[in-house]
Formats: sequence, structure tokens, C-alpha cells
Amino acid sequence: MDFELDAGQYAWLTEVREFLSENVTPELRAELSEHDLEFPNGEVARFRRKIGAKGWFGLNWPREYGGLGLGAVHQHLLMSEFEYAGVPGPDLTVTSVAPMIMRHGTEQNKTEWLPQIAKGEMICAVGYSEAEAGTDLASLRTRATRDGEHWVINGSKIWNSGAQRATHEWLCVRTDPTGVRHRGISVIIVPIDSPGISIRPLYAWSGYRTNEIHFDDVRVPVTNLIGEINRGWTYITGALDLERGALTNAGDLRRAVDELRDLARSPRRDGSVPADDAGLRRRLAQAEADVEVATLMGYEASSILDSGVIPTVEVSVEKIFTSELRQRIANLALDLLGPDGLLAHRSESAPLAGKFERLYRVAPLMRFGGGTNEVLRDVIAQRGHGMPSYGR
Ligand SMILES: Cc1cc2nc3c(=O)[nH]c(=O)nc-3n(C[C@H](O)[C@H](O)[C@H](O)COP(=O)(O)OP(=O)(O)OC[C@H]3O[C@@H](n4cnc5c(N)ncnc54)[C@H](O)[C@@H]3O)c2cc1C
Repeated sequence: MDFELDAGQYAWLTEVREFLSENVTPELRAELSEHDLEFPNGEVARFRRKIGAKGWFGLNWPREYGGLGLGAVHQHLLMSEFEYAGVPGPDLTVTSVAPMIMRHGTEQNKTEWLPQIAKGEMICAVGYSEAEAGTDLASLRTRATRDGEHWVINGSKIWNSGAQRATHEWLCVRTDPTGVRHRGISVIIVPIDSPGISIRPLYAWSGYRTNEIHFDDVRVPVTNLIGEINRGWTYITGALDLERGALTNAGDLRRAVDELRDLARSPRRDGSVPADDAGLRRRLAQAEADVEVATLMGYEASSILDSGVIPTVEVSVEKIFTSELRQRIANLALDLLGPDGLLAHRSESAPLAGKFERLYRVAPLMRFGGGTNEVLRDVIAQRGHGMPSYGR
């Protein structure tokens, strides 16, 4: 494939960069450094409304669904620039939930949910994992039972990231407990403020907040079922492929390497200069090359998406590569910064307010978020190389 962007894509990059330079204000940065990815009613909410007003949440959707009719490469470029700037852009609601509604949803699903997502007004938490169903997701037990014109939902999900700021849950439930496990699963959209839902915070080592969420006789209209009953496995696996693609953008890695290049020239507290160390220089150069590879992988996966195919194998390769690269860059940063690199995130005397100390704690998450790298290696072996599946 041709990895060179065309004139229209370069013009798009310029437009996105201009938007960011005008709208990423010191006030927005201050709020983000205080609240991370929380979305209180302040600068971040205002920033999201501006993105919605430009139509950028649905930029690569067809116009009939409220989109701008641009491509997946455009979306990828926008997300890379937002990541480089360190500000929140389109989330999983836009990048993996909406495309599945577009591909598989009923007409009512599309008219009810897509316009709200395009405006940034509907934010979904993604409810797959349960205490006994992680990698083996098909063993999930949260049940939805039909009662007249409603689904009645009972059960619980764990690691439900973003539930505290979501408006809805993209919920994966069992609707047929009798047949083949994968064929008895459906996806239902559940308003997060429905009676019977309770949310409890769960903090990861990085300080990142995720949640337990419990459903106790939660009732939603039958029309909230996505697509067809018991076909949820197809929608979930498609959404997970798109999630991997979206999670593996290299914009933040580009930024990290740019910052480390500057820090390498600055004397540490003991007067030594990291760039004088040939080993560190070599690792920095390797990181530079690896970020370039990750960037090109992102172009490749989004180009395949533009051709109408979901690139399962390519995004698995990309997700493994970028998540392991993120860890290598975090390790390099701590070695390069010396003892100052261990100063806690948000500590005033830490380089870049402890950004890399935090990255070191956040990096492991990406190695299992959206499916573990071990399992993705199996996906590459089986679907990419035609190897037999596990256990046969
Ligand atoms: C901070 C955080 C945020 C998360 N956010 C969400 C979210 O928003 N929504 C959501 O639904 N989930 C979320 N998750 C859950 C995440 O997707 C799961 O943790 C992940 O899928 C792994 O499942 P598990 O934790 O049950 O581990 P397990 O499935 O028990 O796996 C444990 C280990 O065994 C390995 N393993 C398991 N089966 C195989 C196999 N067949 N072959 C080879 N190795 C195998 C795994 O690779 C892993 O190393 C989040 C998790 C965390 C920690």
C-alpha cells in the first residue's frame, strides 16, 4: 500500500492542528491534569461540545447517519493529533459501538442512537467482562429475560470503565441459556440512570478508575436490543476488533519520544546528562524507529477499514506492538530520568509533573485491555496463519 498521505489528508491534518491550537486552552489542560479522563461539567464538557458541533464524532460516518462522509484514515489522523495534544477525542462509543449499530442495528436503533452519538451527547460504557468471564467471554452470565415489551436484566459486570461518566451501557447479555454458548448472547443498550443499576468504583494500580456495575431487575424497552436476538457475538467481536484499532493509536507515543529526546539533553539532579550514555541514545533511537512503525501500522489498519473490511489480524498485530512499545518507552523514560523519574505523578519537582512515572503504571493496562496480548497472538496464528485453534 501507499503510506504517503494525499493532499486532502494533509489539509485535514492542518485543520485538526489549527482546531487544537485554538481550543486546547490552559484552563482545559488544568482541568485534565486535575481530573484525568473524568468529564465534569466544565472545560472538558465544553471541549466535547465543540467537537460535536464540528461533526467530528461522526466524521467518517455516511451522511445519512449524521456523519461528514470522510474516511477511517481521517478519523485515525484526528485521533493521533488529539493523543499527541493529550486531550480526549472520540471514544469507544464513536469508534466501536456506533459502527456496529450502523452495520447491524435495526432502523430504530440507528435513528434512536446514532444522532445522539454524533453530537457527543451519548457516551457508552462497554459491558463485556464479568468476574468469571474475561478472556472466555462466552461464559458470561448476566441475563436478559423478555417480559412483554421489556427486557428484564439481572447480573453484574466488572472492569466497567467509564460507567461513572457514561449515559448508557453497551451491555452484553445472555438471552438463551440453553444452546451453544456463543449463540445465546445479545447486546442491549441500557440507560445508565435506569432504576436497579448500582455502580461501585474500582481503582487500578495506575490510579485509573474503573467500576463494578450491578443490574437488579433493570427494565428496558425491547427495542433497545441491537440488531437480532442471539446474534450478539458477531457484534461484540466486531466491536472488539475496532476497539483494538482505536486503542492502539501511536499519537501519545510520538509525543512521549519527542519529550524524552528533549529530556535526554537536560542535566539530571546529579549533573549527568542522559544523552552522554550510548546505551540510552541507542534505546531512544530504537523507540523513534518503533514509533514510526506503529504510525504506519495505524495507516494500514485504517486504510483497510476504508475499504469496508474490519482488519482483525492487522489490528491484533498493531495492538500487541504498540502496547509492548508503550511499556518499553515507559521503562526507557525511568532509566533515562534516573531517581527523579520515580517521583510520583503530579509531584511538583518531578520532570513533566511525573508523566512518565504514571505512564509506567498505566502501560500494563494496554497489554490486556481490549483482549490480552496472549490471546491476540492466538488470533494471529489462527486467522492470520491458518493454524489449528486452541485445544484441537
Ligand atoms: C483497568 C481495566 C479496565 C478494563 N476495562 C474494561 C471495560 O471497560 N469493559 C470490559 O468489558 N472489560 C474491561 N476490562 C477487562 C479486560 O478486558 C480483561 O481484564 C481482559 O479481557 C482479561 O480478562 P481477565 O482479567 O478475566 O483475565 P483472564 O481471562 O483470567 O486471563 C488471565 C491470563 O490468562 C491468559 N489466558 C486466558 N485464556 C487464555 C488462552 N485461551 N490462551 C492463552 N492465554 C490465556 C490471559 O492472556 C491472561 O494473561 C478492563 C480491565 C482492567 C484491568
